[in-house]
Amino acid sequence: MTTDSVQVRVEKVDFSYEATHVLIEVDLTITRGDFLAIIGPNGSGKSTLLKIILGLLPVQQGNVILFGQEPAHFSQWSKIGYVPQTIAHSGVLFPASVEEVVAMGLLSKKKFPKILRHRDKESVEKALERVNMNDFRRRRIGELSGGQQQRIFIARAIVNEPEILFLDEPTAGVDAETQQRFYEMLDMLNKDHDITIVMVTHDVGIVTKHVNKVACLNQRLVFHGTHDEFCSSSVVQDILKGEHHLVCHRH
Ligand code: ADP
Repeated sequence: MTTDSVQVRVEKVDFSYEATHVLIEVDLTITRGDFLAIIGPNGSGKSTLLKIILGLLPVQQGNVILFGQEPAHFSQWSKIGYVPQTIAHSGVLFPASVEEVVAMGLLSKKKFPKILRHRDKESVEKALERVNMNDFRRRRIGELSGGQQQRIFIARAIVNEPEILFLDEPTAGVDAETQQRFYEMLDMLNKDHDITIVMVTHDVGIVTKHVNKVACLNQRLVFHGTHDEFCSSSVVQDILKGEHHLVCHRH
């Protein structure tokens, strides 16, 4: 592994919310091209870890290195796309069009005056094409189904052409068929567009079909390895016992 290919390094990270110790000595390396699932029981610290990596929570102990820099000194946030958990549940009712929602992703990178130019419109179109939603660009976001809205939020997260995309529980509340198509789209972003994907999920089923790496968190990082290693790990089977039924074969 060349140093170049390491995009995110988490070293001995500890984190507490006041009296609650949530993460203990977590080490994790994310490498270019990974399609990584972060799994683990409820309350095991998955969202917390993601927020620390994204600079939304402080590094209390240990180190986080994003593209060679600490979050406090990191300025190339357009290299990182993020689809937070709350979006899936927010019931987007505001009267913005699909195009406008995706364009919001571009505004964060702009300095005043925040005007969208022709080039920006092309970026919006390209992002919508990548999630196969260009035909919906003039529709109001609130009119779309949950699965379609989710694609629009992915388009917003990739409109700056990030090198890595983080998703927190992206399939919460959607049916199995929508989920399946959603994962196929992530596969395509990962393989055809060279975007590293890091996904916090409850859906252990995804591990068997789509991802190439798995990190299993239970305050500590109890497992980090390839799909095949994951399937043969007794530690993982013990931790997930009762919560999930693991079927480890690829179709
Ligand atoms: P997961 O994503 O694995 O379900 P979280 O990272 O959301 O886990 O939460 C880990 C633990 O931290 C849980 O016990 C949760 O109740 C607690 N927690 C999460 N957010 C906060 C917060 N803002 N304040 C206090 N405790 C929190």
